[in-house]
Amino acid sequence: MSILCYHEVDPAWRSVLAVSPDRFARHCAWLSRHRQVVSLQQAVTSLDDAGHRPRGLTALTFDDGFAGLHEHALPILLRYQLPATVFLVAQTLTSGGRPVDWVDDPPVKPLQTLDRDQVLEMLAAGVSFGSHSYAHQDLTTLTDEECERDLRRSRDVLEDLLGQPVRLLAYPRGRHNERVRAAAARAGFSHAFALPEAPEPAGPYALPRAGVWSNDGLLALRAKTSDWYVSIRTGPVFPIIRTAARIAGRRTSS
Ligand SMILES: [Zn+2]
Repeated sequence: MSILCYHEVDPAWRSVLAVSPDRFARHCAWLSRHRQVVSLQQAVTSLDDAGHRPRGLTALTFDDGFAGLHEHALPILLRYQLPATVFLVAQTLTSGGRPVDWVDDPPVKPLQTLDRDQVLEMLAAGVSFGSHSYAHQDLTTLTDEECERDLRRSRDVLEDLLGQPVRLLAYPRGRHNERVRAAAARAGFSHAFALPEAPEPAGPYALPRAGVWSNDGLLALRAKTSDWYVSIRTGPVFPIIRTAARIAGRRTSS
């Protein structure tokens, strides 16, 4: 199983986080032909008790809830009938709002996030939503109580808006540790998703995703939705050493 993590779909913002609509359409066309794309809920339901991931499934997720998803991603998802889950920063949907100040390379024009009407329109169109925390803080820097409060608050805001349970969480910047995973469980989440840059042990509260970046073409997409890619990046260390040894062996013998 591979879970892809996109951020924004936007033609103007030059950032690794922003895939152009043309490129996103090519990704979706390829995925609909070559992969079994399932909803994230279906993907987690198919996990076994040990957190092992069945092979061959792909799920699409989007972090941060940027407004371009409504304008640019939704029509393409509908065209190819692909299920998707958007992880929202709950505070952006409160009356006080929250400016996007967590992006490393923001565009000149302030980044907009989805408003409540857009979220509800996407929900009615079949898009699913999860929590990306309340305030997009690095949860590993909070105390246990602060972390649990932030996560509970995010569920309250989102469940109130969506009118349905919110049980899936994507950690801001993918950052988590044992305390954060325990707080996510106490706050009522059933599963939580990371974005590992290096191999890390997987479990129901540390489900790995592969980031999809602005320059990723179909070859990269093919790799990131292959079972070997997920197992190399997230499995225990020894298969990687074995793989590296195999590659090294091949190089020296050729
Ligand atoms: Zn984020």
